Amino acid sequence: MTLKLNIKDKFNKALPADSILENYRRQVERACFSFVTPKIPSHPSLIHVSPEMLHNLGLTKEDSETKAFLNIVTGAKVLPNTKPYAMCYAGHQFGNWAGQLGDGRAINLAEIEHDNKHWALQLKGAGETPYSRSADGLAVLRSSVREYLCSEAMYHLGVPTTRALSLALSGDQVLRDVMYNGNAAYEKGAIVARVAPSFLRFGSYEIFAARQDHKTLKTLVNFTIKNHFPHLGTPSKATYIAFFAEVAQRTLEMIVHWQRVGFVHGVMNTDNMSVLGLTIDFGPYGWLEGFDLGWTPNTTDREHRRYRYGNQPNIGLWNLYQLANALYPLIEATEPLEAILEQYKTDFDIESLKMMRSKLGLQIESPSDKLLLQDLEDLLQLTETDMTIFFRNLSRFKSEKPSEGFAVIEKAFYTLDDLSDSIIEQWNNWFQRYAKRLQDESFSDKERKAAMNAVNPKYVLRNYMAQLAIDDATKGDYGVIEELFNLLKKPYDEQPELEKWFAKRPEWARNKVGCSMLSCSS
Ligand code: AMP
Ligand code: MG
Repeated sequence: MTLKLNIKDKFNKALPADSILENYRRQVERACFSFVTPKIPSHPSLIHVSPEMLHNLGLTKEDSETKAFLNIVTGAKVLPNTKPYAMCYAGHQFGNWAGQLGDGRAINLAEIEHDNKHWALQLKGAGETPYSRSADGLAVLRSSVREYLCSEAMYHLGVPTTRALSLALSGDQVLRDVMYNGNAAYEKGAIVARVAPSFLRFGSYEIFAARQDHKTLKTLVNFTIKNHFPHLGTPSKATYIAFFAEVAQRTLEMIVHWQRVGFVHGVMNTDNMSVLGLTIDFGPYGWLEGFDLGWTPNTTDREHRRYRYGNQPNIGLWNLYQLANALYPLIEATEPLEAILEQYKTDFDIESLKMMRSKLGLQIESPSDKLLLQDLEDLLQLTETDMTIFFRNLSRFKSEKPSEGFAVIEKAFYTLDDLSDSIIEQWNNWFQRYAKRLQDESFSDKERKAAMNAVNPKYVLRNYMAQLAIDDATKGDYGVIEELFNLLKKPYDEQPELEKWFAKRPEWARNKVGCSMLSCSS
């Protein structure tokens, strides 16, 4: 039997293909992709399927239990009348031009239309492609669990993101040196079937500009506008400018969401920036535990901390500069591009302030808010203070009782021993100011609480939680994956029976590989 999917391939039909069909590593010129077939896994087995994504693609639970489904999402078989392919792109990595990168271990299977929505279905970890460079095209279980759980969790948090359909084992062993310190070991190979309207990245355009292949650049930009930004109308210079403005806007919105929930991407290279403004490529990402603008989960970036939490807005801008350069040959004017980049800076300040206001439950705008928020950020960093617990519990603050403020958020501190009298006094002062500020608002405490709980999640995929799911999964027990998957579907809801996940990072996880320390090895 075959799966009933409404296949509507566009990318590999409308855009120029690599004329070489053999699968060996090479520079691919004047083409947007290369046809390639997934590697046949030796003993594929499913670990988990996202019911929401099944539904979005027009599939049922019964479909997901068939051999046909397993075959497709692990690369064992190719869907009839489809031609899988790997996308060609370049990128700036850690601030440096890296040349051609491309889908080194992602293979697009097909595009699917359902319920008037268009999806590209892609396997991550299904074998080598012309873009695999020196690597194997495979993915290990730990990184696949992380991508699978986090991409779906991000969706339910209301953060623009790529999605995941399934998580499976390939049955093959994969060699990895987790901390790049000469301790390579075999790990279980896994495949995530991931889904997005498109996987186009900033680097997809950079590659043609760098090679001065303006013809293919134009073809790809026109394709992107026609299929993903149709409201911008017929391609022209003005349309290209509007396209860039919208990408900048979407990038901004995505990063404001990251800052709101405490998500640190970890590898904001331009090849990991979706042109649709979706969170893409979940590698060494992490969630803030202690609120710390300087924190990055990525040990590969430990020295410069380029992709630290507090720098994500700037990096968004830096990456947009690279995209502006890539689009320039089609626009041939710098002023409109510069104006958009300037606008990003102004808008980011405005949107960021708006977002932080909402985290404090402030409805109206007051000129004093900037300082109130600035002082809060400083206070939060005086001692290790759990971001999620702090903002969630702050919703219980009673505006009539500022002296109880400290007690309301006390649970967010990692060690109370570090709290000198001076720090406690600073907190008490801050709560007095917050209470005073709340007097300008018309909301009751109850209304404010509901509004705050809708933007301050109770449950996020803390780094140690993903690691617990991985530890069990490695032993063949998928209970924690299932529990977290369901928990994170309702991140803003109280879930009393799962309250144990509303807790600070346990001490054992503080310096554990996989929890606070992650590398790009995946
Ligand atoms: P990333 O930093 O994970 O976004 O990866 C950067 C580039 O390396 C992309 O072109 C990936 O496709 C490629 N890459 C990462 N891991 C592998 C792998 N195991 N095999 C082949 N290519 C890979
Ligand atoms: Mg990537």
